[in-house]
Amino acid sequence: MKRKKRINFSSKKKKNIINIKYIGLIIIIVAFISIIGFKGVTATTAFIEEKRQERIEMQKKAEIERLEEERKRKEEEEAKKKMVGVTHEGKQYTYDARKIWEKLSNYNYSNDGNKMVFLTFDDGSSTTVTPEILKVLKENDVRATFFVTGENIERGGQKAKDLIKESFEYGNAIANHSYSHNYKYLYPNRTLNLDNFIQDFNKTDELLKDILGPYFSTRVIRCPGGHMSWKEMDKLDNYLNENNMASIDWNALNADAEGRKKNANELVDYAIKTSQGKEIVVLLMHDTYGKEETAKALPEIIKYFKENGYEFKTLS
Ligand SMILES: [Zn+2]
Repeated sequence: MKRKKRINFSSKKKKNIINIKYIGLIIIIVAFISIIGFKGVTATTAFIEEKRQERIEMQKKAEIERLEEERKRKEEEEAKKKMVGVTHEGKQYTYDARKIWEKLSNYNYSNDGNKMVFLTFDDGSSTTVTPEILKVLKENDVRATFFVTGENIERGGQKAKDLIKESFEYGNAIANHSYSHNYKYLYPNRTLNLDNFIQDFNKTDELLKDILGPYFSTRVIRCPGGHMSWKEMDKLDNYLNENNMASIDWNALNADAEGRKKNANELVDYAIKTSQGKEIVVLLMHDTYGKEETAKALPEIIKYFKENGYEFKTLS
């Protein structure tokens, strides 16, 4: 018994020692694994969260970029639709009106040997003369600038409006020559009234938008009676400069509105005489009611400029 007991005792002790060793080892392993494991798990969770945030940020950024691109694209599309004075097709015939304004203001009609003529017609559209002018322009494959007045357009009704459309589609430039053409309203006491002036020109601008569409605008104007004829016009110049617009007078004319009524031959002679020695010619003519002789004179006038090496340009 005693021996057995002893034996039992010693083997129990041995077993206990082994158990303790095992347990200790297990504890160490478990502790080791737990520490590494938790750290690993924590690190992994943080890493995943970080990546998730990064992805959200990237998505946000991409969305902002997409919206910005969309906005730019829409803006470009709108800009493409805009037609300033001429159609997109008509751009090939046009020239910077502000440059011509500057040249005319400085009486500088030279252009490094490059001759350019700007045929201009005021006070239209008329249902009688404008169609004849358009016909001649088409027959000769040249373009011109029409300084239209709102009141005359209204007077000609739908036919006058259709003529503007046709003219514009052909590649001519459409410019603003006021609504009323009323000197007393625009320049009381021969002095500019800027508010009246702007109001009157805006009225024609609105009418042109009705006819040619909301994307149409023009930055070219011609003052009734000519810019040179009135006082305090520097106020207008400031306004035009601020709005990137141009006021265009003329440096040659066929005199179809000057003095006694002239026949076609006389109009041709006058146009040629006043264009002499000028590389830049801005020729004043009229396509309003009663100017039938101007339409008759036009083929000869065009012929003269063609034969003398002029390029036909529009103002926009
Ligand atoms: Zn006029």
